[in-house]
Amino acid sequence: MPVTVTLFWNDPVTEAEQEIVAVTPIAIGRSAETMRQQGIPDRQHVILNSLQVSRFHALIEWKDGNLIVSDQHSSNGLFVNGRAQTQAALVDGDVLQVGPFQVSILRTQFPSRISIAAPPAPARTQSSFPPPWFIQAEHISLSDLDRDRIEVEQIDFAAVGGGLGSYIWANLLRLSGIRADQIRVLGKVQFDQQGKLRLDSEQKPYWNYQQLCEFSQIPPHERLRSNSDSCPDNIWGFPSYALREAWSDLGKGQLGHALKLLYQVFSEPTGIETYTPKSGNVFASIDRETRRMGWQQMFRYGDVRAIRKTTDDRYVIAYSRSSASGRSYHYLVARYVQIAIGYPALRYLPLVTTYREKTQEAFDDRLVVNAYEDHQHVYQQLKQRGGGTVVLQGRGIVASRIIQRIDEMRKYEDTKILLIHMMRSPVSQGHRYQSSTRLVKNHQELQPFNWPKACWGGELREALEKAPPEERKRLLSDWGGTTTADRHDWQDMIDQGIRSGWYRILFGEIKDLQREHDRLRIDVLDKAEAQNNEQMIKVDFLIDATGLTNEVQFSPLLKDLVLRYKLDLNPTKRLSVSNQFEMHGMRNGAGRMYAAGAMTLGGPYAAVDSFLGLQYAALVAVDDLSTAQVPGIKPLNGLRSFTQWLRWVQNQAP
Ligand SMILES: Cc1cc2nc3c(=O)[nH]c(=O)nc-3n(C[C@H](O)[C@H](O)[C@H](O)COP(=O)(O)OP(=O)(O)OC[C@H]3O[C@@H](n4cnc5c(N)ncnc54)[C@H](O)[C@@H]3O)c2cc1C
Repeated sequence: MPVTVTLFWNDPVTEAEQEIVAVTPIAIGRSAETMRQQGIPDRQHVILNSLQVSRFHALIEWKDGNLIVSDQHSSNGLFVNGRAQTQAALVDGDVLQVGPFQVSILRTQFPSRISIAAPPAPARTQSSFPPPWFIQAEHISLSDLDRDRIEVEQIDFAAVGGGLGSYIWANLLRLSGIRADQIRVLGKVQFDQQGKLRLDSEQKPYWNYQQLCEFSQIPPHERLRSNSDSCPDNIWGFPSYALREAWSDLGKGQLGHALKLLYQVFSEPTGIETYTPKSGNVFASIDRETRRMGWQQMFRYGDVRAIRKTTDDRYVIAYSRSSASGRSYHYLVARYVQIAIGYPALRYLPLVTTYREKTQEAFDDRLVVNAYEDHQHVYQQLKQRGGGTVVLQGRGIVASRIIQRIDEMRKYEDTKILLIHMMRSPVSQGHRYQSSTRLVKNHQELQPFNWPKACWGGELREALEKAPPEERKRLLSDWGGTTTADRHDWQDMIDQGIRSGWYRILFGEIKDLQREHDRLRIDVLDKAEAQNNEQMIKVDFLIDATGLTNEVQFSPLLKDLVLRYKLDLNPTKRLSVSNQFEMHGMRNGAGRMYAAGAMTLGGPYAAVDSFLGLQYAALVAVDDLSTAQVPGIKPLNGLRSFTQWLRWVQNQAP
């Protein structure tokens, strides 16, 4: 007799919640094809997209009144509640570890406790932590926390996220006189090749960012889209990345290149295109600074589930840690909290979501991919086949990187690829603001950075800060829009592609996607010359480079905060923050909560999701704490700033 089981997990890269309700037998793995060959129909598949997951990793069956999971000879093994198992009986709340995925068994249509010898259940199941009394409360006292016998740590400052935004805030606190042992940073972590957790001391604040860069075709030797003095390791921006690179070139005897870099930063952007640093150099510089500031001492792996105000003017953060030995639950209590959790999910077009649900394609067999997810198999398969046809959507920087990657494959790997760049409509004129108009080439708007430069520190920053919320939304629409970098090599590449025919622009809208064996059939509403003709094209892959989403509803943590404290969102439906980046509605007596990054778009600052934007948010927030005379914070005035810079130069702890 089949039974119905609900499985729940968070995607390890995007954090997006996933839930599947299926009837037994349920196959877990990364290849629908292999699981189909074993006789399990598609609607009973749980596809987990990671190379650490085997093609057919585990099977859940209902046998003699028990729900049994068995390992299907997987390469990396199956763990039930942290213990390696080849076969185990399951009860509600059990957690399976399959590669990097923690899959919880949530609800089953049979009694939640069954009589046969079951493996020990976790002390507290995923669905019941934090406990209901915690979730329902607005204010919690420390004595309330005692009743759960869960570890409670108390600290002055806490950063939630553990990525670049947290690192930059913690760095500013250190420069302002706060000791490393007064700061706790909680964040999700990177798994190693075997799907095992790395130690807290080995975690880097940029792992999530680096992964997104690599997926979107920015390897360490490629250049980012960032200013020379936008240095996440150095709040002063001096020595800038151009100066450091020129210095290193000089050391290697490359005088000509060193001089070119210096000329570039003096004459950009009118005389020459804007300098941007190599991503590998940025990561190396952050490594040095994390050691100097004591990041290893501050960082702790923690998947933050919920945050509540306490009755003594602080905040309590409920978080969990999973490891091979099981899952543990913890509370952290802090008076000053900052939240920077980046982008909670990839943005999928509704058509792509429907297509995926319909086809249940295995990870390494996907014909339709998002440019920000791991899609290396697309390039590998194109290479194996000697070429193919690819449709690309999106006009931003990531689309440009993908065109570059395909151009390189054509040039250096003898792969004949036809690239169809699908755009909704022609763009003949760029965005306008007052007397300026953005440059357009080949229907892409061009600009050195993702916002006009005056948004970071110039008159546009001031104008936005002064504007009321609705006016901010209008200004951001005028200044925003999708743009790509004004790089001559990219423009030459596209011009050459159009001339020789490997690059084509198609104005149209996708109406339907169908998989036909190994190829993709796309029905397009062709909008060329204002005629709406339907046409069908058959291609090998579709790469969707339309982006990531930063909507609050995709983050369970923020959604819960917004609902519990009835927080107002700003007109762009992101977190509403003050000019000091304090979250409106979260003040708790002397306690303060700040936010930074993509979630604060629509507030007092345009370029919130940039190195300099994260530094700006940290600077005004720490200034705010200094004005509030928070014990231990010393104002970062001229003298202190200079002495701290000297310490940075000498690589001495702040
Ligand atoms: C491909 C790409 C290229 C970019 N290039 C540039 C550039 O060249 N220059 C520039 O200035 N900016 C750039 N940016 C923008 C920006 O600098 C980065 O997005 C930066 O990483 C943002 O920092 P963050 O802390 O907000 O997010 P992240 O660095 O992504 O960190 C957020 C962390 O929070 C964790 N988290 C989420 N939810 C929870 C939870 N509940 N509990 C615990 N942890 C949680 C996540 O796992 C993640 O590790 C780029 C962005 C992208 C995506």
